[in-house]
Amino acid sequence: MSKIVVLDDNMINMIAAGEVIERPASVVKELLENAIDAGATKIVLKVEDGGRKLISVTDNGGGIDAEDVPKAFLPHATSKLKCRDDLFNISTLGFRGEALASIAQVSKTTLTSRTTDSIEANTISIDCGVKEALRPCSGDCGTTIEVRDLFYKLPARRKFLRTSNTEMTHITEHFTRIGLSHCNLDLTLIHNNRQLYKLGADQSRRKRIEELFSTQIAADLLETQSSERGVEITALLGKPCCSRGNNKFQYVFLNNRCIKDKFISHALKEAYRGLLEPNKHPIVFLFLEIDPADYDVNVHPTKIEVRFVNANLIHSQVLAVMREKLLSTNLDIKANLSSRPVVSVDAVDQLQTPEASRKERITAAMGDFFKNHKSGGSTQKPLGFGGSHRVGSNAAPSYERIPTIHSSGGHGTEIFTRPPAAMSPLPDFASEELERLPVSSASANFLQIHNSYIVMQTEEGFEIIDQHALHERIIYEEMAGKLNSGKLVSQRQLIPETFDVTADQKQAIESNLELIEKLGIELEPFGPSTMAIQAFPVMLEKVNPLEFVTNLLDKLCDKNLGLDAELLVHEVLDMAACKAAIKAGQPLSQSEMQQLLKDKETTERASRCPHGRPTTIRFTMSDLEKQFKRTGF
Ligand code: ADP
Ligand code: MG
Repeated sequence: MSKIVVLDDNMINMIAAGEVIERPASVVKELLENAIDAGATKIVLKVEDGGRKLISVTDNGGGIDAEDVPKAFLPHATSKLKCRDDLFNISTLGFRGEALASIAQVSKTTLTSRTTDSIEANTISIDCGVKEALRPCSGDCGTTIEVRDLFYKLPARRKFLRTSNTEMTHITEHFTRIGLSHCNLDLTLIHNNRQLYKLGADQSRRKRIEELFSTQIAADLLETQSSERGVEITALLGKPCCSRGNNKFQYVFLNNRCIKDKFISHALKEAYRGLLEPNKHPIVFLFLEIDPADYDVNVHPTKIEVRFVNANLIHSQVLAVMREKLLSTNLDIKANLSSRPVVSVDAVDQLQTPEASRKERITAAMGDFFKNHKSGGSTQKPLGFGGSHRVGSNAAPSYERIPTIHSSGGHGTEIFTRPPAAMSPLPDFASEELERLPVSSASANFLQIHNSYIVMQTEEGFEIIDQHALHERIIYEEMAGKLNSGKLVSQRQLIPETFDVTADQKQAIESNLELIEKLGIELEPFGPSTMAIQAFPVMLEKVNPLEFVTNLLDKLCDKNLGLDAELLVHEVLDMAACKAAIKAGQPLSQSEMQQLLKDKETTERASRCPHGRPTTIRFTMSDLEKQFKRTGF
């Protein structure tokens, strides 16, 4: 007996509606897009009860001819496509001809429209697919669509609707997307007779962001543009210090259509790599303009996804423009002092680090600094890698790139080994001691506190630098640079250390031979299940080779990490930099500090360590003046 039946039109429409109309926000999206496609310059969106009771959109666009009004509600009826070729060159937001049919199938819908050359308007009402006759009425040029009681005949669907507030959040999100991508439009959103947004026509993108998000977010954005190889990009980028816990503040628009694209998301993540702590997401507004023929928008019912003809090109252009901006901007954290008249831990709140102890340490260090700083110890240990230099001796400096120290060689030692309480606060210190240092005055005004932080006077105030974090970044970038252009220089081990390997580790070594070799590590079999470390990179001289190789193998074997080659290199460099960098608690000589600060200037992304934590916090004189109540508030 035959079991298959052909569904009637009503059922077909109902099923189709399910694809496009998921909740009130879907209706809002479709109606706003239709108004834009109709050439409207002013759109008013009114919502009641989170869109469950009413969604109404009024526009001043071109309107619909009387004879077309009933047609607009037929499935697959559109004025935006004429032939097959049009499908590959779409410049309107809609083109599938599904929205009105779907909406009218699952609600009580009324459309009233008047074209500019008509003396009257026409109106039609449709109740869950059942059309009433079209009738003339009075009305302004443009179109108003009212959608009431969404899903009222579909209890199963209505049951899925959330509270008015939740539905309103989704609606606001779609309104925001339209607002961001169509700054020329006059847009209003009213909920339960309360005006939530009134966006004026012809606003700048930054102004739109200010109105839709906040003044603070808008003010802090870095703006950049590029136009290369047929891809025009405007990006407004949040500074790393203003990052968020989720990626909701990332908007990508392609020819004014909001899209989600995995290539672009990846580029975005890459651009901020090393500038953000793990689990932090940047605020990004990205606007792309490309020829509609260079992508296919007909791959998703709500058109949120597209397929690029050349996704790699898009990826590389987006990454390039963002990185260039981020790397060329001073992203040091600006201190945010509280208004309390003490130097407070709030100063480092923007660190957004879970390590409360860091805050305490900085605060304590600051306190001590403004009191009489006590000596950090009488001996200067060498920096973390590179040699055996001791400040005060005539040996070559330990830090690979530190220039030979001036003949007296010991200002640092002199300063830090003076008896307790002999050191004056920064101004005296700067004038008495640093004047004699053979360095530029701009970079000479610094000192180390608690063997962990460098406080440096700047033109506008001062900075506190986390020596470990900064050194990590410097080593990371140096190693990354060397890996990019070849391999790290290695040094043969006098007595090669040996270690046992598991089958898994052997396999990991074999499949990552190229990386291991580039790192300047030479591993050789030393027995059936033993390997020897024959050579190790010079740059990691201070790192224990066995410990490093073991950790490296752990990373290579950890399939759970699921790292691609690029991420793996990042992880390994990250680990190497962390191990090789000078540690917190390690005293530094003046010249070592000076070199660190100098390297900071030439190192990319120096304001963040490879894990994305800040290396530097800036304080301005006005911050201090406020704290000391020297200025009005
Ligand atoms: P699509 O937008 O994909 O063409 P819709 O179902 O959303 O399909 O709309 C069907 C047609 O109705 C559109 O192609 C357009 O001609 C007309 N239309 C819909 N909304 C409006 C509007 N606000 N102003 C003018 N015409 C409209
Ligand atoms: Mg449409």
